[in-house]
Amino acid sequence: MSKPQLILLGAPGSGKGTQASKLVSEHGYKHLSTGDLLRKEISEGSDLGKKVSQIMEEGKLVDDKTVLELLQKNTDLTSQSYIFDGFPRNIEQAKALDSEVLKDVSAKAVYFDIDFNVLIERIVNRRTCSKCGAIYNLATKPPQDPTKCDKCGGELKQRKDDNEETVKTRLNVFKEAIDPVLDYYESKGALEKVDATADEDTVQSQLANIINS
Ligand code: AMP
Repeated sequence: MSKPQLILLGAPGSGKGTQASKLVSEHGYKHLSTGDLLRKEISEGSDLGKKVSQIMEEGKLVDDKTVLELLQKNTDLTSQSYIFDGFPRNIEQAKALDSEVLKDVSAKAVYFDIDFNVLIERIVNRRTCSKCGAIYNLATKPPQDPTKCDKCGGELKQRKDDNEETVKTRLNVFKEAIDPVLDYYESKGALEKVDATADEDTVQSQLANIINS
């Protein structure tokens, strides 16, 4: 049985990135994070990167057309099962993902269910390896050295938009747009949920059940 395309839906800090990297190593998925694609454009200094950097620093959404084009450029559904992480962010993007990217390919959407109150602390403590992308949390999953990756020795960095003020905006943006997206997948019979407050391994096994069901 071929794996379904997976669409991860969840607030910033709900654990989508951490779980996605495990799904990549254990189930052969390719991780497609629109946030990562946009940050790459910024670090390369491209025109697109220059256009979006201020918006991202403020925690607001980049326009749908720009993100959809970037996603299409990086997707080849004929050869790969993907984890869509950070897309769709609103109902327009959900519909565009179906009509412009997935077309007739089957997909499951998974909502990372979590109490928003715990997220601010999770996010401001998040650190990411600039070399291999491993994700740490200074409070709950600390690296041995707070500046270095345990896995590859790369430098650990805090994302520019992982500060308290921007996080509040990002959470509000998420809350305003998510309900219609969840309703959309529910009505198609394609919505699953995981308890994102559980520990990493428990969430991963919930995801494995969803992939195999
Ligand atoms: P993320 O890494 O998913 O937390 O995204 C970081 C930032 O990138 C967001 O706060 C937005 O500014 C931008 N972004 C990522 N994905 C999207 C998307 N699907 N639509 C609009 N903006 C996005």
